[in-house]
Amino acid sequence: MSTMARWAASPCNGPLPNSARSLFPLITGMPCCPIPMKRYDNLIAGTWVQGTESAPNINPSDLDDSIGDYARADAAQTDQAIDAAFEAAALWGRTTPQQRADALDLIGSEILARKDELGALLSREEGKTLPEGIGEVTRAGQIFKFFAGEALRIPGEKLASVRAGIDCEITREPIGVVGIITPWNFPIAIPAWKIAPALAYGNAVVFKPADLVPGSAWALAEIISRAGLPAGTFNLVMGRGSVVGQRMIDSPKVAGISFTGSVPTGRSIAQQCAQQMKKFQLEMGGKNPLLILDDADLKLAVDCAVNGAYFSTGQRCTASSRLIVTAGIHDRFVAALVERLKLLTVGHALSPGTHIGPVVDASQFRQNLDYIEIGKAEGARLLFGGEPLTRSTRGHYLAPALFTETEASMRINREEIFGPVASVIMASDYEQALALANDTPFGLASGIVTASLKHSMHFKRHAQAGMVMVNLPTAGVDYHVPFGGRKGSSYGPREQGSYAAEFFTTVKTAYVSGA
Ligand code: NAD
Repeated sequence: MSTMARWAASPCNGPLPNSARSLFPLITGMPCCPIPMKRYDNLIAGTWVQGTESAPNINPSDLDDSIGDYARADAAQTDQAIDAAFEAAALWGRTTPQQRADALDLIGSEILARKDELGALLSREEGKTLPEGIGEVTRAGQIFKFFAGEALRIPGEKLASVRAGIDCEITREPIGVVGIITPWNFPIAIPAWKIAPALAYGNAVVFKPADLVPGSAWALAEIISRAGLPAGTFNLVMGRGSVVGQRMIDSPKVAGISFTGSVPTGRSIAQQCAQQMKKFQLEMGGKNPLLILDDADLKLAVDCAVNGAYFSTGQRCTASSRLIVTAGIHDRFVAALVERLKLLTVGHALSPGTHIGPVVDASQFRQNLDYIEIGKAEGARLLFGGEPLTRSTRGHYLAPALFTETEASMRINREEIFGPVASVIMASDYEQALALANDTPFGLASGIVTASLKHSMHFKRHAQAGMVMVNLPTAGVDYHVPFGGRKGSSYGPREQGSYAAEFFTTVKTAYVSGA
């Protein structure tokens, strides 16, 4: 464990290690616990600006631990950030690919160099385990490095015209100011996979993180603030979605909104952006199926189910919350899964040995418990877990829940729960399993565990999802290939990899006559 991770995990944090001081710039004294409340401001036009309000960032593993006091902007401050980005966009859009590549590479290098301390901060504020937190930070660093390379590879085409003596040149240009709105469950990776391409392709950014996880967002912004971008190119505006996010959607100076979050918010953003002819891209929820066929390797099937359904506390858009199991393996699979669930440790996100951290906050915790009651009332059998757990610190601890004897039509199988809750649906054969997998309003990720080449090939072609996993968990993706879904899960161009250019650039066709 790094110095910072040890410090963060200690019940009485005491003085902050020197290596972590850049995360906590406004600490004046260094008393012992509780940690003094520190203030974290917004970054607007290259300056750190106090919010009109602020809110504490509470550790879901320990509700007595407040990470700091984070600014909340009002609409007027959001306008200042948008104005600054609007001015800076012209400047940044004219920088050379090399300048942009250098800045992104610098940001990526610092994130990677500080992955342990940033991972500890992430786990402390979001509740995923420390290895998961460090893994996510590593991913964010890799994403910045990848888009440093993409800045040097902005695609274009040259074609002969259908008319004599004329060339057609197709180039990509930045769209201008991009508003970035992100959810709480990936506090640094999702911001990274939107901010890095936005900057790589020459756009200015106004970034609004989720209210629950401002710490990682602030740390990322602080790193970006030292990367040599012109003031205003990147702005951090923490605050409420209904205030800051809404202003970004309303402002005519914002050319595009890149959003990840829930379906209701996404739907409302889509309607408002369409009304204004504003570009938008939405990544939303999932109700992802994992098929387990009779011929599956049992251990692999259980590994995929546990990882996909319960790791990161089930709080992943790609979580496999529906385990669709064919009849011949059903009983063996359920028995093996329950044995594995008994071995999982639910605990403080920063404690060594924790497999599943807490649920992110009281409201999500309540929602999980409500769905567990709904499942029971619908006639599903709660075979394992689902009860609140008490630990040495006050936190939102929930035993991973497994429902069996469920029907596809039950609400627990149709609605996104977004917690450590999964259901088994029994299918008679592969054909029925595939039909059940596709019978959902969502279409993000879809997985299958089978030894059959025939079924895996068929599934790859016929799963109605943006991402298909064969003999792998539904969660866990690469950063250099497109990410996104179909149906109610996504709308607009794909994110990540070179496909990100589609949203963050606009195409221009030039006709040039040699005459
Ligand atoms: P949410 O929709 O409540 O909030 C997402 C963001 O939108 C937050 O920053 C929030 O402040 C902001 N927001 C809320 N109301 C707004 C408004 N009226 N105008 C503008 N912005 C507003 O979602 P959440 O609870 O933070 O995240 C969980 C959801 O995100 C789940 O549904 C999950 O599946 C989804 N998610 C999807 C992906 C994906 O890539 N498909 C990845 C991660 C999470």
